[in-house]
Amino acid sequence: MVFAASSRLVPHFILFALTFGLTLIGILARPIESLSMFWPVNAVLTGILLRYPRQATSSGFGVIFVAMLAADVACGSAWQPALWVNLCNLGAVLTFWQILSRQARAHRRLRTPQGVLRLLGACTVGAAVAASLACVMAAPWFNASLRSTWLSWFSEQFSTGMLVLPVLLTVPSPAALWRGSSRPIGVAPLLVLVASLTLSIAFGGPGAIAFPIAALLWCALVYSPFLVALLSLMTGSALIVALAQNLMHFSIVQSELGTTTLTSARLGIAMLVLGPLMVACVSHANRSLLARLTHRAAIDHLTGALSRRALTQQANALLENREQTSPALPLTLLMLDIDHFKTINDLHGHAIGDQVLRQCAHGLQAQLHTGDLLGRLGGEEFVVVLPGLPPEQATFTAERLRRAVQDLCITQVEQRLQITVSIGLAGCATGSASPSLDALLASADRALYRAKAKGRNRVEQAEPHRYAG
Ligand code: GH3
Ligand code: MG
Ligand code: MG
Repeated sequence: MVFAASSRLVPHFILFALTFGLTLIGILARPIESLSMFWPVNAVLTGILLRYPRQATSSGFGVIFVAMLAADVACGSAWQPALWVNLCNLGAVLTFWQILSRQARAHRRLRTPQGVLRLLGACTVGAAVAASLACVMAAPWFNASLRSTWLSWFSEQFSTGMLVLPVLLTVPSPAALWRGSSRPIGVAPLLVLVASLTLSIAFGGPGAIAFPIAALLWCALVYSPFLVALLSLMTGSALIVALAQNLMHFSIVQSELGTTTLTSARLGIAMLVLGPLMVACVSHANRSLLARLTHRAAIDHLTGALSRRALTQQANALLENREQTSPALPLTLLMLDIDHFKTINDLHGHAIGDQVLRQCAHGLQAQLHTGDLLGRLGGEEFVVVLPGLPPEQATFTAERLRRAVQDLCITQVEQRLQITVSIGLAGCATGSASPSLDALLASADRALYRAKAKGRNRVEQAEPHRYAG
C-alpha cells in the first residue's frame, strides 16, 4: 500500500513542480498586462503526457490545472482571471493530447511524414480551442477586441505547439541518446544555421525570417529528427524574440482582422519549420530502412551468422588489409561441415534440423573473439575467419570449436542429440603474400574432405604448398 501510494504521489509531485516552473517561465516572459510572448507550458506538458501516458489521468490533469493556477496566483494574478485563463490553457493541453494520443505510435513519434501533418492538424485544432475558450471565458480580463484576443491566443498556442512538441515527441530514450553520442556529427550545417540566423536578424524585414530555411533543410538531411526539432525550436524562438524586441525592423499596420506583426510572424515561423521537420523525418525513415535492408542482406536469417555474400566481402577486405602492415599479418580460414546432418533431418525432421543449425552457429559464435568472422556458406557448412592467427596456432582454436559443437546440448529434443563437425583449416603465415579467397576456400575444402574421409569429427590442416596463391 505504501509503495502504491508513493508511486502515484511522486509522479504527481514532479508533474506539479514542472507545471509550476514552466508557468513561472511563461509569466516572466510576459510583458506587463498582456499575453505571454512565449508560453511553453501547454506544449511541454502535452509532450510529457504523450511520452508518459500513465500520467494522463483525470488526477494528472487536475494536478496540472492546480499547479498552473498556483503559479499564476503566486505571481500576483487575481483568482478569477487566473482561474479562467488557466482553464483555457488546460483546454489546449487536453485537445492536443486527445488528438495526438489517438495516433499510431509511428505517427505520434514523427517517424512518418503523415505524423508531421497530423501534428500540424493537432496544433491547429488545439490552438483554435484555446483561442475560442479565451474569447468565451477570459475575454473580460483582456484589453483587446475579441478578434485580436482570438488571433493572439491562436498564433501563440499554434507556434509554441509546432516548435516545442516535435522536440518532446522525437527525444530519444537515454540509452539511445548515449549510443548516438558516440557517433561523430558534422558541425557545418549547424554553423551555417547560426550564420544565416544572425544574417536574418541583422538584415531585417519580413522576408528575412525565411533566411535560415536552407540551413535547416541541410540540418534535416544530416541530423536526427530530434536534433532538427531542437534546432528548429531554437531558430524559431530566436526569430520570435527578435521580432518582439523590434530587432528585425518591420511591422504591419494593424489590419482589419486584428493581425499584428507578432501574430503574423509567429504563424509564419511555425509554418517555416514544417519543411525541415518533414525532410528530417523522411530522410531518417530512409536511413533506417536502408540500415535494416543492409543488415538483412548481411545476416543469414536462420542462424544469425554472416550471409555468404557478407562473409565474402568482409573476408576479402581482411585479406587486402593484412598486407598493409609490415610484415603482413597472418590469417586462418576454417571450413566446418556438420557430420551426418542429412540423418538428423531424416530422423528428427527439418524443424529440428533448423534448430541444430541455429544452436551450432550460436555455439561457434560464443567461442570467437571480436573481429573474427562466422558465416554460413550454405546448408550445414560454415566458415570461420581468424585474422591475426597463423595456421599452426589456429589448430587450437579449431579444436576448441570442434569440442564446443560436440558438447552442445540441443534443446527441443527429448533424448540428447549429439552433433559433431569436421573442420578443414587453411591460412597464410606472417609476412606471406595473400592468396585469393577462392584459393583459401578451395584449400580448406580439400582439408575438410580429408577430415570426412578419416572418420569425421576432426580437424585437418591444408598442406602448406596447396593454400598459397
Ligand atoms: P556429411 O557428414 O558427409 O557432411 O553428411 P551430411 O549428411 O551432413 O551431408 P549432406 O550434404 O549429404 O547433407 C546436407 C543436408 O543438409 C542435406 C539438406 O537437406 C540439409 N540442409 C541444407 N540446408 C538446410 C536447412 O536450411 N535446414 C535444414 N534443416 N536442412 C538443410
Ligand atoms: Mg555439406
Ligand atoms: Mg555435412
